[in-house]
Amino acid sequence: MDIAQNIQRVKERIASACRRADRDPREVLLLAVTKTVSPERIREAMAAGLTHFGENYVQEARSKIEGLGKGFWHLIGHLQRNKVKQAVRLFSMVETLDSLELAQELNRQAREQGKVLKVLIQVNEAGEATKSGLPPEQVPLILENSPAWSALTIEGVMTIPPLDPDPERSRPWFRSLRLWRDRWQERFPHLELKHLSMGMSHDLEPAVEEGATIVRVGTAIFGGRG
Ligand SMILES: *Cc1c(COP(=O)(O)O)cnc(C)c1O
Repeated sequence: MDIAQNIQRVKERIASACRRADRDPREVLLLAVTKTVSPERIREAMAAGLTHFGENYVQEARSKIEGLGKGFWHLIGHLQRNKVKQAVRLFSMVETLDSLELAQELNRQAREQGKVLKVLIQVNEAGEATKSGLPPEQVPLILENSPAWSALTIEGVMTIPPLDPDPERSRPWFRSLRLWRDRWQERFPHLELKHLSMGMSHDLEPAVEEGATIVRVGTAIFGGRG
């Protein structure tokens, strides 16, 4: 398992998808998903040049982030209210904003810690009960209220489509998220909804072709989680 080589391969996949879509690969951030990955292996990814990392659980992330220090950490798992204070302290972006109450709490904590926190709204397009995230119809309510949250900047949206081994089955969800985003951007011109966080190890190509600016990749970099 050569992590540097895996990263190279993922970057090449992103670059080819960008070529097909006539996009600049520098528009796509490779977020290395490090859940269950040891600090030693995360260090290898850092040594290979990666700077942005994603964790699902605040508790698991805490010791890694405190031990590894440098880098930008994104929370990509559901955030419980009693973990908000820790999350604000540890992460530079929370990709899983999914309620008004959570936004208010994140804003309050960020203000208290003298920090401006970047957030993405998690959109549950398929209405899957097993996944967090807001149905698209409820996203405008968050965007309408966002001017009140001076310590939050809403930078876009994130989605996890229904699991399907065929990457092409993810494409319609990626495309429709981009269309929703374009509509919301038009309706809320004072916001800068620049990020579309979509695509994982198996479906990053259609995601990049449909406009992803953040791809969240675990397995293709670090191998299976067992
Ligand atoms: C685990 C996870 C990923 C990475 O998935 P891989 O298939 O290992 O690339 C991406 N996004 C979220 C939200 C995850 O939980």
